Amino acid sequence: MVAGTPGADGLICIDFDDTLVANQEHFEEAVGQLCADIHRATGMPPAEARALFERADERQRGRHRNRFLLAVLSTYCAATGSACVPLEAVPRLAQIAAWPYDAHPAPLPGVPAALQLLRARHAGPVWLVTTGDPVVQAGRIERSGLGGLFDARHILPEKDAAAFAALGAGHARRVMVGNSPVTDVLPALAAGFEALYVRRTTWSLDLAPLPGDIREVADFPAAVALLLRGGPPAGAAGPP
Ligand SMILES: [Mg+2]
Repeated sequence: MVAGTPGADGLICIDFDDTLVANQEHFEEAVGQLCADIHRATGMPPAEARALFERADERQRGRHRNRFLLAVLSTYCAATGSACVPLEAVPRLAQIAAWPYDAHPAPLPGVPAALQLLRARHAGPVWLVTTGDPVVQAGRIERSGLGGLFDARHILPEKDAAAFAALGAGHARRVMVGNSPVTDVLPALAAGFEALYVRRTTWSLDLAPLPGDIREVADFPAAVALLLRGGPPAGAAGPP
């Protein structure tokens, strides 16, 4: 056992988007483009268009590619008062909706080196745990260049407590590292994981209050440093 890590056979699960690679920024760019296009087409102030998008986004409640496309199309319809998207607008709106998924999933600063350090120091399995369209997400993992640094890559339909319970079965100690309170920290805690919260930008619908004893770090390299330094990563019993 390496001191400070979750045991020699401890399982470490790591989120992908906005924990290891930039993602939310690409959604922000796409929504910004959508609002600018709507402004040009209708004169609607971008802030008003954004409010329409946020309502559509909340109805879709998911970051899967087709859900985002539906949110973009329904925002355009709401802004223009149309029952459906005119044919001539489809290519541009499809391009906007594809951007977050087609953009290069660049590793965040220090991530490749931190992952390599974790792999060198931790004897147990290190798994990538993400969600989304399996084909899209597998391609993004491949293009990030990080896929080979994991013992396994799990692209789950949902990251909920049941999914984490199934992942963690047979592992005496397990830790989840991620930037989403709703899809990383809270369901992992509910399934008996410890959790380390990477306090980075995330989808607004993934925000939620966390228990007071959750350990927070600013980025993934800091999470690795904490894991290797020892002590309860998060959510584990310990002094306040
Ligand atoms: Mg994430």
